[in-house]
Amino acid sequence: MRIHTVTVEQSLASLKTAATGLSASEAGRRLAEYGPNHFEVVQRPHLLLRLGKEFTHFFAIILWIGAGLSFLAEHFDPGQGMARLGLAIVGVILINGVFSFWQEYKAERAVAALRQLLPQKVKVSRAAQIVEIVASELVPGDVILLEEGDFVPADCRLIEVARLRVNLSTVTGEALAKARDSAPSAEESPLHARNIVLAGTSVVSGQGRAVVYATGRHTEFGRIAQLTQTAGETSSPLQREIARLSRLVASLATGMGVLLFLVGQAMGLPPWENMLFAIGIIVANVPEGLLPTVTLSLAMATQRMARRQALVRHLPAVEALGSTTVICSDKTGTLTENRMSAQGLWLGGAFIARADLATRTQLVDEHRQLFANAALCHNVREIDENGKRELRGDPMEIALVDIGRQAAGDLDGYHVVDEIPFDTDRKRMSVLCQTPQGRMLYCKGALETVLDCCRFIQFDAGLAPLDPASRTRLLAAQDEMAGRGLRVLAFAHRAVDEGLSGDEQEMILAGLIGLEDPPRAEVPGAIARCAAAGIRIIMVTGDHPRTALAIARQIGLVRSEEPLLISGEQLRQMSPTQLQLALDAAEILFARVAAEQKMRIVEALKQKGEIVAVTGDGVNDAPALKSAHIGIAMGIAGTDVAKAAADVILLDDNFASIVAAIEEGRAVYDNIRKFLTYILSSNIPEIVPYLAFVLFRIPLPLTILQILAVDLGTDMLPALALGAEKPDPAVMQRAPRARGERLLSWGLIARAYLFLGVLEAAAAMAVFFFVLGSAGWHYGQALAPTDPLYLQATSACLMTIVVMQIGNVFLCRHPLRSTLDRKSGGNRLLRLGIASELALIAFILYTPAGNWLFGSAPISGTTWLLAIGCALLMWSLEELRKAILRRAGKD
Ligand code: ATP
Repeated sequence: MRIHTVTVEQSLASLKTAATGLSASEAGRRLAEYGPNHFEVVQRPHLLLRLGKEFTHFFAIILWIGAGLSFLAEHFDPGQGMARLGLAIVGVILINGVFSFWQEYKAERAVAALRQLLPQKVKVSRAAQIVEIVASELVPGDVILLEEGDFVPADCRLIEVARLRVNLSTVTGEALAKARDSAPSAEESPLHARNIVLAGTSVVSGQGRAVVYATGRHTEFGRIAQLTQTAGETSSPLQREIARLSRLVASLATGMGVLLFLVGQAMGLPPWENMLFAIGIIVANVPEGLLPTVTLSLAMATQRMARRQALVRHLPAVEALGSTTVICSDKTGTLTENRMSAQGLWLGGAFIARADLATRTQLVDEHRQLFANAALCHNVREIDENGKRELRGDPMEIALVDIGRQAAGDLDGYHVVDEIPFDTDRKRMSVLCQTPQGRMLYCKGALETVLDCCRFIQFDAGLAPLDPASRTRLLAAQDEMAGRGLRVLAFAHRAVDEGLSGDEQEMILAGLIGLEDPPRAEVPGAIARCAAAGIRIIMVTGDHPRTALAIARQIGLVRSEEPLLISGEQLRQMSPTQLQLALDAAEILFARVAAEQKMRIVEALKQKGEIVAVTGDGVNDAPALKSAHIGIAMGIAGTDVAKAAADVILLDDNFASIVAAIEEGRAVYDNIRKFLTYILSSNIPEIVPYLAFVLFRIPLPLTILQILAVDLGTDMLPALALGAEKPDPAVMQRAPRARGERLLSWGLIARAYLFLGVLEAAAAMAVFFFVLGSAGWHYGQALAPTDPLYLQATSACLMTIVVMQIGNVFLCRHPLRSTLDRKSGGNRLLRLGIASELALIAFILYTPAGNWLFGSAPISGTTWLLAIGCALLMWSLEELRKAILRRAGKD
């Protein structure tokens, strides 16, 4: 028996369940038997394979060639220490590969952990109580409730529907929504049956109840498809830029190595020695750990963002957030608290405060239909939460149910038999109710749209035709309430003789209710921060223009007398060019727009070259969320569909969290620049000794192994620490990054290579010659590689680079601000990094093992002092440079 061919009752019986659902104990038993409702996660390549990749990429291959050449050299010309060099290069490849692997693994885990923060929830009926559970706990036989925007969590047979339409594109590829019902189907395959909804598809509109018949990998989706949402991460533009850059630098280094080799040959250097420094140049310059460090900084930023309530779904969003220039924000729930309370009413032609309802019993009685409407026309559900019955759903509707139940009193004998669901285009909803007086149609929604369906209006004196005069009174009443920032809902009804034929027509307009939704306390501050950060905020709301404007003024979004207010209707009349021109206005609000129109606004802003972030929560918001550079979905009020379309999910639905995420996004970019400057600086003191060695025939001041000690030892942790710096307090006080601004700007290159790098190189060479000179060495005198004086001199050169880099790490924390300025705050990782740097250099210089491995020797206190003096000099010069730039107003 196939479940789609039988009746609802038979299908329930076949799954040994009832319309009221399973009992908790039976559900528990089935969970143990059938397993959790998990889909197979996309198979990632095996860990070992991925580890293997770390040793076979472009840089690794260059290094392998270097190692191969060294072993070859040892073979043809033994005794030159070439084998040790070859081994060292292999060591580099290994350390680097493992470190990169660890960083990438950690980054991946961080992103994966974020996903766990927001599990999909499902409303399920267990022993006749509606409870909310995580989707993974669903079992066959469970009866679930589905509504607009939900992802279907398992394969289900519908048992009750209200205008349910589903989008099957994830399973069948069809984009058009399909209607669904609960009648038995004659279809061959359940895939096409109208009473089946499959896991992975989504509800576009309407509602339904369905019984689960397959979970996890037994579902069609689990069988045929991989989970698209978790499919491989795309790399971000930043990561691609870094990869490109690293390759470029590696090619340049190789070119330079080859060139120097040729020059050396022409100058008559012994070929193996010549090859040794060619390899040295390559190894010194290949930016081995850059890409994984960037990936890890991005991943660490996502963790910091999650702590600030913004969940990033894809790494590229981190940097897009950092360059955001415009935020298009919803009003309800994002800028306001979405904590609604009915404040005032317009009943029978007059305003009445909510507090007065209790004493105006006669009035309430006369208008009972309006209150019955408020109590019945909604999608609110009573959910059992730890034994307590709670209303769940749209806070506005909860507020209306609240006032409706309170005023209408006992509504036994009223029940809803059909519904025309709310959608943002119609801006109204209706229910058909069986009442003791017969069938009634109750409708509520935005006044403009409800008015069109009404023929009469309820005044105290009785029913009156809805003529122009009463329309004017109504609209004036709405304007008055909206002007106070209230959201105004209109209520209408009529008796229905049979069915829902005639739909919403010829109704009686019963009155208006004004609901207050206070702005979030953090929002004015966040808006001010955006203003300082050069980020524009455009409110795009479905609410009335006056309500929108009143709230915009309350939160400081609008300050001028005459902001530009565009309604959905006006937007419809505008050409793309007109819209683009309108978007030049300093203060602009969109009101009464349909979700679909958001997309037009986003597109127009993109055309203007803006980096656009947009918020959304409904199914219809998905296209705009996808099209924007950063789609932001609401974690609490958002539908599954909106969340799946978004790049970022706000865990608290709060606008202020977007601003916090932007701040973190900007900080990451700054941090990457910091560690780039830091890493690049030390390349110069690594190259200059080789150049001096070749060009001036002096003893080689820094051996390859010592270069490796810097690149893969002492520099590593401080660079990571710079990548994890907290956002600078001033990061939100400057304009967004210019579009197309490169990460590696000429300014950065000049600072790292031509200033800091040159100073470091000068210091390293000076200390090297100081050690040689104090022992009486003279120019032209050859020194054997094992000569104690030579060992001391190279060690001094190495130590100086390390000391200079310790000074440099502080200088790199900000491109312009003084290191003495306390604004930069502390960084624990940085202190740890410096401690590791000192420990490593102490090991190299003062232990026999370190001496043997790196060809080094202990050095005197005077040499240390000299190096520290050089670092202080560099520090002063850089501080001076920064001060001059600050004076010139670059801060
Ligand atoms: P925002 O887009 O800022 O979140 P919004 O929530 O007001 O604003 P919509 O949800 O599109 O936007 O609602 C538009 C209008 O539709 C509301 O102002 C209200 O008049 C009407 N409306 C909203 N929800 C309902 C509902 N459940 N039933 C009937 N009418 C509704």
